[in-house]
Order: sequence, then structure tokens, then C-alpha cells
Amino acid sequence: MSKPVLSKSTFVRSLQCLKSLYLYKNYFKQRDKITPAQQAIFSRGNQIGVLAQQLFAGGNNASTGTKVRNKEALLNTMEAIHQGQKIIYEASFQFEEVWVIADIIVLKDDGWHIYEVKSSLNISETYLHDAALQYYIIRNALPQIQKAPVQSISLIHVNAQYEKQGALNLQQFFTFKDVTQHCITQTDWIRQKLIKAKLTLENGKIPAIDIGEHCKLPYPCDFTNTCHRHVSKPLSLVVPTDFNLEPTAKQMVLCMLSTKPAIPVYDGCKPYQLIPFAFATKSTSSRFVHQFTGNNYENPTNLFIEKLYNVLADADVIWVDEILVATQLFNFFNQMSYADQNWELITEKLAGIDTFFTSYNYFDINLAAQQIQVTVPINTKVPHAIAATEIYMTMQQSQDLFSAAEQAELIQQYLSDQLQLLSKMANTLGRFTNTNYV
Ligand code: SF4
Repeated sequence: MSKPVLSKSTFVRSLQCLKSLYLYKNYFKQRDKITPAQQAIFSRGNQIGVLAQQLFAGGNNASTGTKVRNKEALLNTMEAIHQGQKIIYEASFQFEEVWVIADIIVLKDDGWHIYEVKSSLNISETYLHDAALQYYIIRNALPQIQKAPVQSISLIHVNAQYEKQGALNLQQFFTFKDVTQHCITQTDWIRQKLIKAKLTLENGKIPAIDIGEHCKLPYPCDFTNTCHRHVSKPLSLVVPTDFNLEPTAKQMVLCMLSTKPAIPVYDGCKPYQLIPFAFATKSTSSRFVHQFTGNNYENPTNLFIEKLYNVLADADVIWVDEILVATQLFNFFNQMSYADQNWELITEKLAGIDTFFTSYNYFDINLAAQQIQVTVPINTKVPHAIAATEIYMTMQQSQDLFSAAEQAELIQQYLSDQLQLLSKMANTLGRFTNTNYV
């Protein structure tokens, strides 16, 4: 079996940008670092994939646990099929030098059925392309191993309407969509796209493709730093012209932590429902901090909203790290809150530290702090918000109140450090506005 030229992920990459495909294959080390948020999305995908395997219990896993040993994975799959396994997870196939891994394949009386698991609530165009490639490769590769035909391909994804009550009900949590007919109609399109991707790699030179909207869609490209280097710095300070800070304004800084678990944690919650679970806030001119961290046995949303509103109600300016994220949270609070709360008014008071910087990739508060030479002593062992969220999720599953209290303490330490950083940055940026810094 020859070494594959393409895989499912490199094929999807080629659809977004042929230059990205070429760079990935020839300049792999130049990729941008994976952010904690991206890593969390990958982990979530794996978690949902493993959960979906329980829909077809008792299968054989053909994975080698690494994407490098494709030959071994192909042999594992072949062996499982020859041994008469009817359910195989992570089944590998190769055809025309393209290697794909099907999440689950199931042999029924009429032949093989393929299932691709997606951790999302909806089916995107990218998922349909991905399924069409899987179907094309497996339909051609499988008969070379066993005579049984490939009958169908379906996408399994998370059911947006599911509401948790008691133990997780897998049959209701997931929903199936048969996309076989769509994949059949895409056969010629897939062939053409494969030819184009392979020709790009054979050409031996970087395709002349300029940066544009396609760099972010459907996924943020991991060669953004490489391609944008000639255009601008990753992060530049630009004070917004419409930002007026009255000298007497009562300024507060606010850090919030929230999560959107794919698998609902609390009864009455749906998949990906927003759960705000911790905040810390203080006036820029004082050391006194208000903090809240939800406990580990009930949905903290209502208490979070009530406590936060009481603290923010008399602020004139509320500094946050990312204004869009805070605005979305406040919109959510507006839908959830009681009649005597006016979150629209509170939203108007928001000032985003990120609005003082232009960035072509993603906003990084620590890079921004370096840019304006702000440093604070770090006391926390928690490196970023994603790690704090993971601690909260572990705490939520913990039956031990003592260890839950220790985990809450870690979250509070993280927020406390973030608050110090934001406070110092808000003070510095406020001065820039008064001196017309550009
Ligand atoms: S940053 Fe944009 S142009 Fe560069 S490889 Fe990625 S998608 Fe292509």
C-alpha cells in the first residue's frame, strides 16, 4: 500500500485554500500554535465521538491512536473485517492515495453503513463535503477487502432540542441524517477536487493565493501568521476615536467565566446551553474585589446574574477583555433576568480592552499587555480561561465537597490575577485616551 498523498483533513484544507494545503505538506513547522480554545474544540469532538460509539455497542476499534501509522490502521481494519466484525470504530480505508478514517462502520444484512459523528448542533456544508469524500473513498476501497457493498452514509450530530432530565439519554441526545443521495451526486465534484489538490502538491511551488475572507472560513487558517506577516503586526495599539472617558467616571473591571458544554450538565439544560459560572469585579481605583464561583451541584446561572447585576448597577464604565464576548453574555442575561434588571443599560457601559488593538488573528490579552508594557505578578497556577473552565467542569462532577472547595479556590485565584491585569491595563489605556495617544 503506497503512502497516502491526502487525508480527509488535508482534503478539507484544500477546499478552503490550496496554498494552505501546500504549506501544510511542505512547511508544517510554520503552522501557528494551537490555541487552548482550539484544543478544547478538538477534545470536545473526541469526547462526542467516543460517546456516539455507545449507540453501536460492542464494536472493534481499528485506530492506532496516531495519525502517522496509517498502514497499521489499514491493516487493523482489514483484519477486523476478515474476522467478521460487524461494528468497527475508526475504520481506515485508502483509495487513489487518499486515506480516510470512518468514525463507525456497521455491517447489516444488506451491506455496510457508514456513520460520521459531528459534535455540532447543525450540519454544515463542510461536513457534507467531508462525508462525500468518505463515501467516495470507502465505496471504492471496501469491496477490495470484502464483497459486501456500501449501502449508506449518515451524519450523527447533537440534537439541539434535547433537554437533560436525569441520566443522559443517548438515543435522544444524538440525531441521524442520511446523506447518501447527496454524496452520490457529489462523486464527480470530489474527483475533480482531488485532482486539483494533488496537482497543487505536484507543482512544487507555493500557490499564488492572497489573504482574504477565506482565511477564516470555514476554519481559522493555521498559516495566518505566515501569510499576514507582510501586511501588519499581529497586534497593534489603536485608540478608538469615539472613546471618551470622563475624569469622574466610576470605572470597574470585570472578568467572567462561562462554558457551553456539548453534553448538558444540569437537568433542564440543552446541549451547548450557556452556563456562566464565575466572575470577579472591582473598581479600578480600589483593591476590594467582588467574586462569585458557582458550586458543584446546581446550575449557577440565576445566582450569577443576580449577584453580578447588583455589583455593576452603579458603574459608569465597565472594562472587559473582549467586548463581543461580554455583550453576548449580557444579551443572554437580558433574556434570563428579572424585570427589575436592565442589562441593555449595563451593556452600554462596556469598554473592551480589545477595541484598543487591531489583530489579524485572535485577541490575546497577554500580548496586548506586553504591547503597552503592563505586567502584574502572577499568583495562579491556572494558565488560561479554558483551564479554569475545565476545573469547573471537574468540580461539577466531584462528590467531594473538600476538593470542590479547593477547585473553586483555584478559579478564584485565576480571576483575581486576571482582574489585576485588566485593572492596570484599563488605567493605562484610559491615560492614552486623555493624551490622545496613537
Ligand atoms: S492564511 Fe489565507 S492565504 Fe494563507 S494559507 Fe491560510 S487561507 Fe491561504
